[in-house]
Amino acid sequence: SEALGATRPRISVVGTGYLGATHAAAMAEMGFDVMGVDSDPAKVAALSEGIVPFFEPGLPELIRTHVASGRLHFTTDIVEATAFADVHFICVGTPQARGSNAANLSYVEEATRSVARNLTHDGIIVGKSTVPVGTGARLRSIVAGIVPAGISTELIWNPEFLREGKAVDDTLTPDRIVLGGTTALSEAVMREVYAAPIAIGTPVILCDLPTAELVKVSANAFLATKISFINAIAEVCEAAGADVGVLADALGHDIRIGRQFLNAGLGFGGGCLPKDIRALIHRAGELGATKAASLLQQVDEINMSQRQLVINMAIEACGGSVLNRRIGVLGAAFKPLTDDVRDSPALNVAAALHLRGAQVVIYDPEASSTAQRMFPTLTYADSVEEAATNSDVILVLTEWEEFNSIDAAALREIVALPVIIDARNCLDAAHWRAAGWRFTGLGVAPVA
Ligand code: NAD
Repeated sequence: SEALGATRPRISVVGTGYLGATHAAAMAEMGFDVMGVDSDPAKVAALSEGIVPFFEPGLPELIRTHVASGRLHFTTDIVEATAFADVHFICVGTPQARGSNAANLSYVEEATRSVARNLTHDGIIVGKSTVPVGTGARLRSIVAGIVPAGISTELIWNPEFLREGKAVDDTLTPDRIVLGGTTALSEAVMREVYAAPIAIGTPVILCDLPTAELVKVSANAFLATKISFINAIAEVCEAAGADVGVLADALGHDIRIGRQFLNAGLGFGGGCLPKDIRALIHRAGELGATKAASLLQQVDEINMSQRQLVINMAIEACGGSVLNRRIGVLGAAFKPLTDDVRDSPALNVAAALHLRGAQVVIYDPEASSTAQRMFPTLTYADSVEEAATNSDVILVLTEWEEFNSIDAAALREIVALPVIIDARNCLDAAHWRAAGWRFTGLGVAPVA
């Protein structure tokens, strides 16, 4: 085969979950020949037929297009994928370890090892997963020990900033491209890989490995801090009779602050923010960096306390106990436009109320089946109306757009009690109150 850098690189993507499937499809869209590899045969079988085994807007179309064009293949065979490609993206999971704040790095380590030991020609291993600072350096020494004789490889870090629900656009037109630990050769190859976004002006940040790892982790830490900040202010608003929504709008006009991630409510969840700030708490602690650890500990605690706050509001709305009360829950996904229920605040609240003896009925436009897999004992409905029928209280726990078009007057006819808690501050309170509902948001003084 040709020398690395002499011909258009071929791409492998190891791990085809939310990140990897999107990245693989986007690379094919940019004109590369791509092989996605995953250890889960069901995932590979589905993707090979152009079926995306999770909900991500625009992704099924992109996968189908490029499976059909022949530029995108999926396999369970890491040996085949490694032999095929020149640039190997590591996109496997880095979940929170059991019983610890630390990240579980076993998947990243195993994926990197299996690429390195199966290299058949020179190539670049590109870490994309979110990892604690120092991981890349450790992986480099592992790779150096197992790469076959006569083959040269580099390991660099290129963290990913995509948002679920907007993953396709975020991957095709990223805000920035961070490349950590490159040489002249790997920089040139990566500039070719990202030629399309670079051509439209996407900034490229070249840095060392630890900086690249930390850019990603601190971006998530900052976003999490913003959410916990507004939730802390929301508590003051509620106590003082102020309105946190109006306050956030006013704050947001300051471009140093910005309006995004300033919605008071049930707080953040998902497969990234919670585990990423915990991993940073852990890693910063190991490094003796106590300030980041203590700041983010507070961020995590404030965030988790929002879930308890909403549970308590539901109990209070039911007169002190939810036992045998019927609770309609709107939303299961950790945020709208995804079916991801990893560490979902919505499901966490629903499950807690179920454990306290409530009859909880959940409706989510996309996440019912993923939620059902995680919490099979909860009850799932196919519509807002079904979830609301005979309810003593309705909880809005994910801010899906379709909840804004609920006819409050019509819904009032089918509930037992017209009581609603908008834990995402996403509904029009005046509309609901005018239809006779007792409506409560977070961070606003309750209306008697
Ligand atoms: P995911 O669980 O959806 O996907 C991980 C995939 O890797 C799974 O399909 C799993 O089967 C596969 N896998 C595990 N070990 C493997 C191995 N040795 N060989 C081949 N496949 C293997 O996780 P995700 O949400 O895609 O996240 C992946 C990484 O990307 C994490 O580090 C995450 O923090 C980071 N990230 C995620 C997002 C996001 O929005 N989901 C955004 C940016 C960064």
